[in-house]
Amino acid sequence: MCGTEQAVVIKSSNTSSVAEEKENGSVKNHSFEEIINLDHGDPTMYESYWKNVGSKCTVTIPAYQSLSYFANAKNLCWFLEPTLEEEIKMLHNVVGNAIVQDHYIVVGTGSSQLIQAALYALCDSLNEPNPISVVSAAPYYSSYPEVMDFLRSRLFKWGGDARSFDEDGPYIEMVTSPNNPDGVIRVPVVKGAKGVLVHDFAYYWPQYTAITSPADHDIMLFTVSKCTGHAGSRIGWALVRDENVAKKMVKFIELNTIGVSKEAQLRAAKILEVISTSCQRFKPHDLKNFFEYTHNLMAERWKKLRDSVKSNKLFYVPKFPLQYCHFTRDFTETYPAFAWLKCKEGIDCEKLLRGHKILTRSGRRFGSDQEYVRISMLARDAEFDLFLQRLSTIHGVSNGNSEL
Ligand code: PMP
Repeated sequence: MCGTEQAVVIKSSNTSSVAEEKENGSVKNHSFEEIINLDHGDPTMYESYWKNVGSKCTVTIPAYQSLSYFANAKNLCWFLEPTLEEEIKMLHNVVGNAIVQDHYIVVGTGSSQLIQAALYALCDSLNEPNPISVVSAAPYYSSYPEVMDFLRSRLFKWGGDARSFDEDGPYIEMVTSPNNPDGVIRVPVVKGAKGVLVHDFAYYWPQYTAITSPADHDIMLFTVSKCTGHAGSRIGWALVRDENVAKKMVKFIELNTIGVSKEAQLRAAKILEVISTSCQRFKPHDLKNFFEYTHNLMAERWKKLRDSVKSNKLFYVPKFPLQYCHFTRDFTETYPAFAWLKCKEGIDCEKLLRGHKILTRSGRRFGSDQEYVRISMLARDAEFDLFLQRLSTIHGVSNGNSEL
């Protein structure tokens, strides 16, 4: 799960298990190299922006504040802090990525909790005798099957790749756009009459992709983790059209964690406020536009990645079309939070990179092939640069004395 997602550089302590390897004609001793962990998508790369913001985003909470379980007893989502609700609405209006009118806002402990809450609410409403299949087109976010297999619920079960799903009856399709792991813009693929959709918009923000229109679906999930980089605050929100579904999601969270931390909500509200302010063109403030800044960081990283594999016949990095972004008022490529790297046919890419002390997530975990790996693009500069440096030295797979 992403709660543990991180990208760290660890000094190798176990030197005896690491063999010397012949590479590019020279003998290289990997035992002195650091492990680069890009398996998880920990969004630490925005740290530089927040350091510059300094105390303008600091939240102080006195001990007498936030004692009650309740934030607003009159609200359908009674544990949602009013300031967070306000800032969520404001940010969507500023960015133009989702319609908030005619939707209830349900806050969750990360969107991870909201995925489960949505599945519970939808399946409970459908009231079927057997668990309802939940599908998503491969490559799909690896947590979907992991969560469902782990829970073994009587309400829902993992139904696999949406493209090969052909059962009659109700189903739920997770539509992740831009998609984790491959960054592709997605629409539903199953054409069944009794389908219900959950749109996971964790990455539908201007630093990753063009904002082509405000999304307006029945259930849309967002998270500060990938929007602002504050994954540690564990705040996500759902925009839900149907009142009964929203009420059931609230009930799920009530029984699961009796609401969501107020401290985290207040901090998230402040962070969203600062981001919205930073986007105002004609207001006196000394904040750099957050999305412009992070978009430039992403573009720079993707350029560096492409450059580092340009003359390398082993790796393939996907390309994305230019699209007009209504937020930046310009054409832009997609710069996904993950690189979906493909190796030459027949190569287990995760294993190859692990041999060079680069930890990534195998394509198999996403319902795809061993030739693919998902690599976090969100690590700190030093880790990312070290990764590129090492990647550019890999030109073949060692197999005894020969190179494949
Ligand atoms: N959905 C997608 C597609 C994700 O990539 C993630 C984070 N990796 C989540 C949901 C969960 O995010 P969080 O629980 O941190 O809000």
